[in-house]
Amino acid sequence: MLENRFSIVVGDITQSRAEAIVNAANTTLLGGSGVDGAIHAAAGPELLAECRTLGGCGTGQAKLTKGYRLPARYVLHTPGPIWRGGGHGEAALLASCYRSCLTLAAEHGIRSVDFSSISTGVYGYPVSLAAPVALGSIRDFLETHPLPERVRMVCHREEIAAVYRQAWERLAREHPADGAYC
Ligand code: ADP
Repeated sequence: MLENRFSIVVGDITQSRAEAIVNAANTTLLGGSGVDGAIHAAAGPELLAECRTLGGCGTGQAKLTKGYRLPARYVLHTPGPIWRGGGHGEAALLASCYRSCLTLAAEHGIRSVDFSSISTGVYGYPVSLAAPVALGSIRDFLETHPLPERVRMVCHREEIAAVYRQAWERLAREHPADGAYC
């Protein structure tokens, strides 16, 4: 049942104790502003050194590194789409970010993943439009895969979490078998 596997929380993802956290990266994977900068600052320079070996990452795809000084063992880096009005494949690319991270996590036997809210900061994707795409993608994956066992959306502010909760309730109404999140 999804209610045992998925939740929405408010917090700082750099403090997360999940086995893997998800970084809203850019395609260079060489660090940036927002959550990306916070993750690199907390992980230490070893993270940037490993990222330099990866040759970047396409939008909607994901790459895995170690977490170094973070409490999380791994970081999943995924460059989200830059919002350009919604008519440039943004939703499909955003769904792909979540699916790619979860696929990579499952391939590595990772049991818990904490997501940040991809593309909704500097990349300008409206949270109200990003939330249903993100949650639909997570739900579709969890319905068909046993790993990761636990997934959380870690929202930096309560207002963002409220938007994700509303979107989750709407999804649950459309698919009553999924139940509520906990
Ligand atoms: P993007 O470039 O993909 O838009 P940003 O880092 O600018 O990425 O923003 C993505 C989201 O990450 C935003 O909702 C922002 O509030 C959130 N965020 C920023 N810092 C943190 C943090 N330390 N923990 C969790 N979320 C964070």
